[in-house]
Amino acid sequence: MTRFRDLTKYEYFDETVVSLVGEPHYVHYRHQPTDRVLNVGWLNFERFDQGDVPADFVARLDEYATDRVNQTRGSQSCPICGLDNPSLGSAEIHVQAPDGTIYAAPALVAHYVSAHRYRPPKAFIDAVLTGRNMADIVRDAQSLSN
Ligand SMILES: [Zn+2]
Repeated sequence: MTRFRDLTKYEYFDETVVSLVGEPHYVHYRHQPTDRVLNVGWLNFERFDQGDVPADFVARLDEYATDRVNQTRGSQSCPICGLDNPSLGSAEIHVQAPDGTIYAAPALVAHYVSAHRYRPPKAFIDAVLTGRNMADIVRDAQSLSN
């Protein structure tokens, strides 16, 4: 499984593909060179921060994990417990903080938090609580253009 340190620059894909639930097509958005896109939750599971996180944060993360962002054909199982959940193992969560920073995490981050007490960087927790899910931003842009 691909692993990146938290808050390093995200360069896994330069184009993000959002598959809207209930829509027959994919929507692409390309990261701009000026975008600040950072990695979160690509766990190097030998050591990661653990601790309590707000219940609201967990609920939102679970909700965001149902969007199909950067869906891949293959699925990664959880490197910690082996959980094989193709829905979580084959997509990402992208969240934009109010300051514009975008955080890109594997959808498995929702499982890492709820099952393994992973505590992501505070900036990511704040972005999920106060920022916007990129899939929602794309969804809104789509409905405006339709
Ligand atoms: Zn697990």
